Amino acid sequence: MRDLSIAEAEALHGGRLDRRCRYATPEDGVPCNLTGSLVYGIARWSEACSGCYEGYYTDHGRGHGCSECGYTGRSRREHWVPIPPADADEAAQAQAKGE
Ligand SMILES: [Zn+2]
Repeated sequence: MRDLSIAEAEALHGGRLDRRCRYATPEDGVPCNLTGSLVYGIARWSEACSGCYEGYYTDHGRGHGCSECGYTGRSRREHWVPIPPADADEAAQAQAKGE
């Protein structure tokens, strides 16, 4: 992924974006095949460490600590998620309204 400035991200998206977030675009310039997105935002969350947590509810669990999580019992995860182009949003809204 190549990092985008907010101006580049808004130009590719075709609308306004949250300026507090980070955006990137695929290096190969190929849009997401599900959403047609060229702009991706980062989603960050933490979950129970897969290396030391033995329960079931990983979203609010905590492991006993291991070298994988730095002995915190939690691991940080992040993933790029496609942001649908602004005009696709409008088309979907128009369709929902029956226009
Ligand atoms: Zn761990």
